Amino acid sequence: MGKIRLLDRDTIGKIAAGEVVEGSASVVKELVENAIDAGSRRIAIMLEEGGRERVTVIDDGCGIEPDDVELAFQRHATSKIADASDLWAVKTLGFRGEALPVLAAVSRMTLATRPAGRASGTEIRLEGGQVLGIGEVGCPPGTRVVVEDLFFNVPPRRLGLRSARAEAARAAEVAGWLALARPEVAVRLASGGREVLASPGSGRRLDAVAAVLGATEASRLVEVCSPPVTGYLGPPNVHASRRSALTTVVNGRPVRDRVVAGAVEDAYRTLLPTGRFPMGTLWLELPPEEVDVNVHPAKLTVAHRDPQAIRRLVRSAVEAALGRVAPARPFWSAPPEVAEGGAAYADRSQQAAMWDQPANAEIRHSWDFRVVGQVHRKYVVLEAPDGVYLMDQHAAHERIAYERMAEENPGGGTQLLLIPPVLELQPGERAGADEFRELLEAAGFILEPFGGNSLLVRGVPAAVADVASADFLRAVLARLGDGRGTDIDRLRRLLAACRAALKAGKELTREEMEALTRELGATRRPGTCAHGRPTLLRIGGDELERRFGRT
Ligand code: ADP
Ligand code: MG
Repeated sequence: MGKIRLLDRDTIGKIAAGEVVEGSASVVKELVENAIDAGSRRIAIMLEEGGRERVTVIDDGCGIEPDDVELAFQRHATSKIADASDLWAVKTLGFRGEALPVLAAVSRMTLATRPAGRASGTEIRLEGGQVLGIGEVGCPPGTRVVVEDLFFNVPPRRLGLRSARAEAARAAEVAGWLALARPEVAVRLASGGREVLASPGSGRRLDAVAAVLGATEASRLVEVCSPPVTGYLGPPNVHASRRSALTTVVNGRPVRDRVVAGAVEDAYRTLLPTGRFPMGTLWLELPPEEVDVNVHPAKLTVAHRDPQAIRRLVRSAVEAALGRVAPARPFWSAPPEVAEGGAAYADRSQQAAMWDQPANAEIRHSWDFRVVGQVHRKYVVLEAPDGVYLMDQHAAHERIAYERMAEENPGGGTQLLLIPPVLELQPGERAGADEFRELLEAAGFILEPFGGNSLLVRGVPAAVADVASADFLRAVLARLGDGRGTDIDRLRRLLAACRAALKAGKELTREEMEALTRELGATRRPGTCAHGRPTLLRIGGDELERRFGRT
């Protein structure tokens, strides 16, 4: 007698469930995906005991017709595709027709549903996949699914569930991905009655990012805007301890996309400390035939037809975004002891701590510094009511000189020199000076030919008068002629930088430090130098309390 036999439906259901359902997060994922596919605008998720006891998902989508309700619990029953050819253009999140039967097989489940056009709804109750009852019921339009006692009939799997806290954290992470994937849908999740996630469904991606990461964290992110690649990513000083801090959404599907994630990491290479990872969310909109969605049992990844092309596309999009903000090297590192595990949102909000770069508006508002002293002949230590600051003296000098020129010209920013120096130039240098003559004069220089290749410097921009030697002017001319474009703003930056360079590495007296602080405070943008580097870094007072364990 043969030994091979067909497994019964019940067993098949449990085996498949073992593959796809891991815990509350899988339940949330499948039910919310169904709600999204049903065209819902609002989705509410409730967890009891992290979902170990109960997961409830309520939506305001299209509902299920009475005749279809029982069918929806048959394996491979779906309204979303008709045959295999449709697999190449799936727009819905679900398509295999497996989630409802598979979840029902390993739980006690109740589904109540009503299409908007009908006066009443249908309710079905199942236990371990067996239908206990089905009938008409009064309920609002949309669908409510309750999944209770997950794995009650598969004891080893029940034991395999994590703690309520860990299950809730995972489920919240998954709900967050879906909220990011569909910013036009309002997704709420409450665990044990406490709201953990609430995306507004405004359709704006940044709103969804703020709902998942917190508004403060979201405001620090850099926009990626190179369609079909868009998103919000951490600048080089904002990063995470885990790879999973990067969410990738491909064609509306939140997936772990190794190709995309690898390209993002490439773009950040040399910008992040080792062991730290880029964070944020990236959306890709690709032609459906470029992406195979049917490659993973839980639809967690996709395959690209041309991974190399995607890699290049993503890398250049991210580099373009970082190019707008990135200093050459990270000037700041997150504390290494950021908590691992737990919900992603907790992890992300913590890693923003320690040194931060205060915004201009913030510091101008509280310009109240006491000079403590100088360190490394480079930084001035300042005390303020809200914490301790380090001022980069070079960057501060640069900002001050730059703004003086920008403000005062052309309204008389020239300082006439009592004893005009003679600038003896090489023929090439003289040609350069002639070429940039107009620009130099617009910036406040007064130059006169003085026989041969020499120039008489009658006046200089007041902001650099204290350093305007012949050598200084020669250095400025050389850099101006380096072919990197010349306009008045670049010249001002250059003058500011050359002046700051001459003042760098000097020991400062208390009076000089106080003057520098005061003058920086009088600028319009005291927070950065003329090239965008920070002038000030801060450790907040509360951060010090926390770090020293005083709270
Ligand atoms: P799939 O999502 O792959 O189609 P499911 O087993 O998850 O398979 O769902 C089966 C079918 O039940 C869906 O195709 C859909 O027609 C219907 N359905 C499930 N959940 C909902 C819902 N929340 N609102 C409307 N219809 C739903
Ligand atoms: Mg589904």
